[in-house]
Amino acid sequence: LPDDAAQIPVRVRPEIAALPAYQQGKQAGADAFKLSSNENPFDPLPGVLEAVHAATALNRYPDATAGRLRERLAERFGVEQSSVHVGAGSVSILTQLVLATSGPGDEVIFAWRSFEAYPWLAIVAGATPVQVPLTDDARHDLPAMAAAVTPRTRAIIVCSPNNPTGPIVTQAEFDAFLALVPRDVLVILDEAYAEFITDPDAVDGLRVLGTQGHPNVVALRTFSKAFGLAGLRVGYAIGHPRILDAARSTSIPLSVTAQAEVAALASLDAEDALLERVRTIAARRDALAAALRETGWRVPDAQGNFVWLPGGAETMQIAAAFDAAGLIVRPFAGEGLRISVGEEDSVEKVLSIAASVVKDLP
Ligand code: PMP
Repeated sequence: LPDDAAQIPVRVRPEIAALPAYQQGKQAGADAFKLSSNENPFDPLPGVLEAVHAATALNRYPDATAGRLRERLAERFGVEQSSVHVGAGSVSILTQLVLATSGPGDEVIFAWRSFEAYPWLAIVAGATPVQVPLTDDARHDLPAMAAAVTPRTRAIIVCSPNNPTGPIVTQAEFDAFLALVPRDVLVILDEAYAEFITDPDAVDGLRVLGTQGHPNVVALRTFSKAFGLAGLRVGYAIGHPRILDAARSTSIPLSVTAQAEVAALASLDAEDALLERVRTIAARRDALAAALRETGWRVPDAQGNFVWLPGGAETMQIAAAFDAAGLIVRPFAGEGLRISVGEEDSVEKVLSIAASVVKDLP
């Protein structure tokens, strides 16, 4: 096939042609631990697998609005069903929310470094990404984010706990931030890792929505992380029906499969058992972060299912050392490495490599 742009007359939007390809966390070989995508290391529960196997009507389209799951989530969180929206992973709902609010000339504000999809989906919408640096301790700088609002700002994404650095936003910080943000700007609170939080001061999107009536806030959660369904793609948003209806209007119809919906329902049935696993992962995370700090690493507060090693200029060499030891981690060149809290046996290995490479840091 010709690879010369002159021979391919189809015009791709220049901002799309300039986008780098999505970098998926590497797949691990048989004897390696994959700690690069913040996945849940536990196998699916038998009841969840059975529900997926029982959903056999593959010749039929799924329910376009995932009505049973929305009803169940509405009950679970004490909101109206119209305040719940389900999507094929929370990243698809994020995309819908940005498409619904932000177009060419509009600005989408988020912290940086944060989830790599944020600049990508702003650009896909034709909007301008506005990145506000994290503080020195790798937290959101919410006053600076509020100060970055202009008349062109249409959406702000707040990620708590922040992927990839780990810290939460506190409820008090978030309340103060909301008081500064114009009410016609959508605030997306991305809580993909909410269930792993152990800090009682963390913002809780549902509390914000429930008690203070901020119609411009949408909370975003997922079954991918704590509930271990990353492969099935199902996430949800809770917020004002008018905003969720607008998001739904931009969505690819029928993208939540029947299997994803029943697996999510079965996971809610098994919520206690799944949250017990979450507690195990959170305890493993706390032990890992504490041990890393003892070896000299400046690990920021870790409230998700991952820890952040600030590797600076040495990041890629450090990642290579992990790789050579059979530990697939997620490096961000020049900044640091994100390591998911995985299988029990991976923790000692992570610690031993981290302890050996820290000695070579300047
Ligand atoms: N938000 C954040 C902060 C994430 O880290 C991720 C996954 N890496 C997502 C959203 C998307 O998760 P999913 O689409 O699997 O629900």
